[in-house]
Amino acid sequence: MTIRLWNTKTKTKEVLAPLDPQNVRMYVCGPTVYDRAHLGNARPVLVFDVLYRLLRHEYGADHVTYVRNFTDVDDKINATALARKEAGAEGTLEELVRERSDETIRWYHEDMDALGALRPDHEPRATEFIPQMIAMIGDLIEKGHAYEAEGHVLFAVESYSDYGSLSGRAVEDMIAGARVEVAPYKRNPMDFVLWKPSDDELPGWDSPWGRGRPGWHIECSAMAHELLGESFDIHGGGIDLQFPHHENEIAQSHCAGHGFAKIWMHNEMLQVEGKKMSKSLGNFFTVRDLLEQGVPGEVIRFVMLSTHYRKPMDWTEKKREEAEATLKKWRMAVRDVEIDMTAEQASDALSDDLNISEVIARMHSLFAQQEFEALKATGCLLGLLQKDLESNEKTTDVLRDTIAQSVEQILTKRFEAKKIGNFSRADEIRNQLKLYGLALRDAPEGTEWEPDFSSVEINLSKISRKDGNKFFSDLKNNTRIEQEILNSLSKIGLIGQPILDSGHQPDALIQDLLIEVKKIGERAYVHYVLVPLLEEMIETSDD
Ligand SMILES: [Zn+2]
Repeated sequence: MTIRLWNTKTKTKEVLAPLDPQNVRMYVCGPTVYDRAHLGNARPVLVFDVLYRLLRHEYGADHVTYVRNFTDVDDKINATALARKEAGAEGTLEELVRERSDETIRWYHEDMDALGALRPDHEPRATEFIPQMIAMIGDLIEKGHAYEAEGHVLFAVESYSDYGSLSGRAVEDMIAGARVEVAPYKRNPMDFVLWKPSDDELPGWDSPWGRGRPGWHIECSAMAHELLGESFDIHGGGIDLQFPHHENEIAQSHCAGHGFAKIWMHNEMLQVEGKKMSKSLGNFFTVRDLLEQGVPGEVIRFVMLSTHYRKPMDWTEKKREEAEATLKKWRMAVRDVEIDMTAEQASDALSDDLNISEVIARMHSLFAQQEFEALKATGCLLGLLQKDLESNEKTTDVLRDTIAQSVEQILTKRFEAKKIGNFSRADEIRNQLKLYGLALRDAPEGTEWEPDFSSVEINLSKISRKDGNKFFSDLKNNTRIEQEILNSLSKIGLIGQPILDSGHQPDALIQDLLIEVKKIGERAYVHYVLVPLLEEMIETSDD
């Protein structure tokens, strides 16, 4: 199979000919970890997740190396750390910065895991590669591509004749178009920062140019070099990073003598209902917001992947509804299907610059032809119809059984109230149920109901490390706890072992535990909060 990918740099579809088929290497620019990821941040994650899956399918899972960085040197992170310090938090500024990044990285993992994205092989943090950045900056100065001025080190764009070749811009045009105020120490207005000084209120590292911190661009060049070598196959990111970030990465790496990336891939941006997502338009939301509204991660994944990565993607409520219905239908069909085949036709389509739309069209026709094994195998390639994305559904099924009888009794009473014209009583019941996390929908053929605990106060998905420990001790002290829940907790090692306290567990383990805790927590909520409340409702509505 030949993989062809659109190279933004050459503006042609190129055959991927790996430098080393035993180790196909890809670097994707990752998030700046200062807050929850918004929906747009998920697009590159999902696009390159599909490419990663395709590469693993083609070259073997052990023969692909995927690196995606975490930018944890950033003014917004610093501002949060400083505010916490001023509010009396313990620790040095560097420690508080680390704490804030740890927190946002954990959120990022939770959210991207929920979308079924595989974790990259390496997720380097900028703060852990400072010596490599300092070495690279030193090398650039020595080679005459960078200079020191007033505690800053700047890259001299005029020293690199190809500057602007990725984005197709000429340096003169860039200068004319630059609206930013030019710092007096710059030789050329387009020169960009490799190193900048830090005062006492900012985290900093010692360097030959004084205590300071790296600029953003140098981190990707240094980390890609450290983890992937002088040259590698694919570099990816959002189209908004093409200039100046990627242009600057190329300039730094080439001038340091590295071959750097062969193929450059950029995904287009995301809109919401035809408009740019922005806080001022009120259409700004995070991945977590959607998950908490009860939109399954798989649905988000499906909607995001159904537009080709080189076209702007429009998130709409209509698409979400359609995706939800389609996945529900497909999931039912493949529920008990075992797969013993690979989806070759689908991987051929993906090999043509990730033609995912064709793969999805194929899945629709496989469903129509009742070829369920092929449907599941094809879904597998796209990271859909997977077991790990099923958890919400399963939990809901269990909960449904537990509460069904009580809810049905209450609904009968509500129906009787409506029959005698007591609509205010009917509304009251609806509102009460909603408060407990049960949504009602009146239809001509009767009233349907659905558990939705996302807005209920006991929202265990928001559980933090500290709250987690309290939750466990509450559970342990609660004599009414069923054996089943105790068993589940001990099975995952949570009884008698303050695992979340240790701080030394790998993050992946913590994530798994939290997912498990959420399921157990919902079950606990149903058993110990919801069911007694429903019983109370049944009794009181008798008077
Ligand atoms: Zn980057």
